[in-house]
Order: sequence, then C-alpha cells, then structure tokens
Amino acid sequence: MPTAAVTGVRAALAAQPRFPLATLPTPLHDAVRLREALGGPSRCPRILIKRDDLTSLGLGGNKARKLEYLVADAQSAGATTLITTGAVQSNHARMTAAAACVAGLRSVLVLTTTTAEPAIAGNLLLDHLFGASVRLVPSVDPMLAVGQDEAVVAEVVTAEKAAGRTPYVIPIGGSSAIGVFGYVGGTAELVDQLNDMGVAPTRLYFASGSRGTQAGLTLGAKACGATYAVMGIAVSAGEAEKIERAKRIANEAATRLGLPERVDLPELVTDQEYIGEGYGIPTKAGLEAIALLARTEAILLDPCYTSKGMAALVDHVRSGLMSPAETVIFLHTGGVPAIFTDGHREDLLRASVALL
Ligand SMILES: *Cc1c(COP(=O)(O)O)cnc(C)c1O
Repeated sequence: MPTAAVTGVRAALAAQPRFPLATLPTPLHDAVRLREALGGPSRCPRILIKRDDLTSLGLGGNKARKLEYLVADAQSAGATTLITTGAVQSNHARMTAAAACVAGLRSVLVLTTTTAEPAIAGNLLLDHLFGASVRLVPSVDPMLAVGQDEAVVAEVVTAEKAAGRTPYVIPIGGSSAIGVFGYVGGTAELVDQLNDMGVAPTRLYFASGSRGTQAGLTLGAKACGATYAVMGIAVSAGEAEKIERAKRIANEAATRLGLPERVDLPELVTDQEYIGEGYGIPTKAGLEAIALLARTEAILLDPCYTSKGMAALVDHVRSGLMSPAETVIFLHTGGVPAIFTDGHREDLLRASVALL
C-alpha cells in the first residue's frame, strides 16, 4: 500500500504531461554476493541496488526518467527538433537521441571533445545509430567548454528555425525543473518498493553530475517521507555553482508540482572525495568497483559515474562508517556504453585480474 505522502506526490506528477519512454518500475536488487564480498552480514550493511541502468531506452540510464517529462514539454511546445549538449561520451546526449527516435523528432547533439577526431565508440557510436546530427566542439577540458557550446547551440537553433523547424533546447544533463520531475517520480517508485519489502534504508548512494538527479531525489525524499539520507557522490568539480543550480531547479519543480516542500543548500552538498583527477577520468577505486560488481553480481558499472559512486559506498563500508545493521541503497544510474571506449581497458583488465 502506498503511503499518503507517496499518493500525493504521484497525484502531483500525474497532472504533468509525460511521454512514456522508460520501462518502469525498475528492479530493486538485493546484492547478497556483493555484501558477502564486503565481509558479509557481520561487517557490511544490506545493499539494495535500484536498477535504473535498466530503464530500457537506448541501453538505459537515469536520463530516461527526465526525458519523459522533457519530451512531453517539447511536444507541448510543438517542437520538431531536440537539441542538447554534453561531453563526447555523454549518456544524456545518447538517450536524448534515442528519445527523439521514439517520439518521431529530429535530434542535434552539440558535444565537447578533447581530441580532434574522437573514436566512434560507446555513446558516440550510438548517437549516430540513433540518427542524431552531431556537432563536435573541440575543447581542452570538456567541462570548461560551456560558453563555447552555448554559441554553437545558438547557431543550431538559428539554422533549425531557418529550415522551418521548431527547436527545443534541453540543458546539459536534462537538468531543468521539468527534468527534476523524473526523480521525484523515481523516488515515489522506490519508496513504494521499500514499503512493500518492509525495509527502512538509512542512505541512498548515487553519482552526481549536473545535479538534476540529486535535485529530484532530494525533493522526492522529502515529499515522500523517505527514511534515507541522500548521499550524492560528485563526479566533477564546480560544487558551489552546481548546488545553487540544484536548489533552483528543485524548488522550481516543487512550485510547478504544487508541493509544499522546499530544499536548501546544506541538503544538496555532495561528497567530493571520489572525483579523482576530474570528470570522465577513471579512478583506481572506481575501476576496482567495476570489477567487483561484475564479479559478484554480473552488474556492469561505468567508468565515469557509477564506478565512483560505488567506490564511495565500498570505502564507507570498509572504513566502518556504517553499521552492518543498516540497509543502504545504491542507485545505478546507467552509463554502461562508456565501458566500450578506449582509455581504461588495460586498467580494467588489471583490476579484474587483481580480484582472482
Ligand atoms: C548523467 C548521469 C549521472 C548524473 O546525473 P545528473 O542528473 O547529471 O547529476 C549519473 N550517472 C550516469 C550514468 C549518468 O549518465
């Protein structure tokens, strides 16, 4: 039975236009072999993995939940073309291209790249398969190209209009107030599953990037009366500006949904300890986490996001930060196509061999 709080949140979301893209609900998996590998029930909390890598749309991931509301908004605006930005291996860009296919729209992706001719692999290969028009923007640091890619987006918007089409620009990561609805809904789904199982987890771990997921999870947890603390693990720098964005879009989403809850900056702070050298650069602990999850659960993590989120969880278990009596959740946000790119293959193999 859903709680009154969850029923209220669901009713608020039901009043918003939504274009179905994801296969929901996603499974909530009890990771018993992972728990065993981390010392068993006497040393390690129970770990539940929320499988949002299995949202289905174009190989899945967290962006499917946001895109359901963003695509519906684009359709309400009479859009013919979805335009978005990201790094060259952006999961969000790949899933936007996939969503465009399903919704019968065009897609243009403006992608920043540190190499002149990036390999057509992983997400970039899928972008092409999904028929996206790809505009590459060279940059020394994918995260510092924001000003540059904005100028290219403006060009694309002008060109689309000149061709008689109606563009709809989705911000990086799909992190707008409308995108936030996705993880308010994701939280309602999760809290229902937890109630059905009769468990009250203490923490929810996930990899935090552009903060739309965090904004939705934090607002959702408050509005649904969730028992857990939202543990965002940062995968890129720029905390000060990003938590301001998270607060703005979370509260704008709350207003649009007619929810009374508001979130403030201290609730949106992320853990900066697991970023490593920077966005998109795998860490040793992250690669070990990929090998560990593959070996114990046959669940694949990605080198950019989920590996760093799981590295934090594993570290917190090993350092005794949590009691084994706790139950914790790991939200698997997807990203698997990036495994099939260059740059980390040898290290991943080494991490896997080290577990033998
Ligand atoms: C985009 C993404 C995230 C982060 O989500 P944000 O809403 O951008 O913070 C985490 N994991 C994966 C695999 C992603 O693609």
